[in-house]
Amino acid sequence: MLIVMKQDATPDEIASVVALVASMGYEARPMPGRQRTTVGLVGNDGRVDSSTISGLSGVAEIIHVSKPYKQVSREWKPEPTRIPLPDGTAIGGREVVVMAGPCSVESEEQILAAARAVRAAGATVLRAGAFKPRSSPYSFQGLGKRGLELLELARRETGLLIVTEAMDLEGLELVAETADIIQIGARSMQNYPLLKECGRLRKPILLKRGLAATITELLLSAEYVLSEGNGDVILCERGIRSFDTTTRNLFDLAAIAVVHGLSHLPIVADPSHGTGHRDMVPAMARAAVAAGADGLLVEVHPNPERAMSDGAQSLYPDQFEKMMREVAAIAEVIGRSIATVGSPV
Ligand code: PEP
Ligand code: MN
Repeated sequence: MLIVMKQDATPDEIASVVALVASMGYEARPMPGRQRTTVGLVGNDGRVDSSTISGLSGVAEIIHVSKPYKQVSREWKPEPTRIPLPDGTAIGGREVVVMAGPCSVESEEQILAAARAVRAAGATVLRAGAFKPRSSPYSFQGLGKRGLELLELARRETGLLIVTEAMDLEGLELVAETADIIQIGARSMQNYPLLKECGRLRKPILLKRGLAATITELLLSAEYVLSEGNGDVILCERGIRSFDTTTRNLFDLAAIAVVHGLSHLPIVADPSHGTGHRDMVPAMARAAVAAGADGLLVEVHPNPERAMSDGAQSLYPDQFEKMMREVAAIAEVIGRSIATVGSPV
């Protein structure tokens, strides 16, 4: 429920609304806007008698948020959420942020070569997993803590920001010490204790859509993070299971437009896991930018044949370079640009 205050509502009137909501056992979240303040009532508001609230002085109207997710919805916050990053860029504004790198951190040589290649082609964020959620327990599980140290080294060497995955509660704190953006993988999208803990952090969270999750379920998972106080959630479309095995997953391009309609949160696209084949990645990256994606998450490896995970979908550096030129052209057509460090947002 949203309580919209009158334009001339006084701080005392706002405080009375907050106090009444609190006395009803709910959390009140005042959100000062350009025109007027709105007070969000956080929680399951089905049993709230709104007439007591609408009778208070200074209250203009009560809006019932019809969606199961509340704070994530456009009804709650009509303007897009822009998430600032430490390098001066932002996700969710005019710029499209490109995050690129190998699936996993494998060695110092590999991660530095990958970082330098994606940096040279214009990416601003390095992606790579130190902790890897693999479908088989016998597959490479990542370098763990050593992987995080190598990511820090790559950041020092190149200036790229780091996005890397936290798989569980135990590892979250460790990952948060290194990551500029914390990735929650598709397999963890419904790990609610993990999501709640992400909500207590003050770092952007990249939340990937589950392997068979609906868009509503993705948005409800994001709600877990927001409900704990962290509003900096970046959603990620990475393809879902389908009957057709031609591609690794069915890359749901429409999800980008759907999410932009339903939510104020930014959404980025991962055409690598979305297709599973490197030759399809550039086309889907272009399509995602055309569809309005706020960023791209792309796997690039200096030597894909030797990759310890996801080699078949990892771009060669020269393919990535070409892709960057193409997505820049697409971005321009729709009035956007690819984020570069130091550029205006
Ligand atoms: C990844 O980004 O390498 C990854 C494991 O992705 P997902 O969680 O989407 O499978
Ligand atoms: Mn991968």
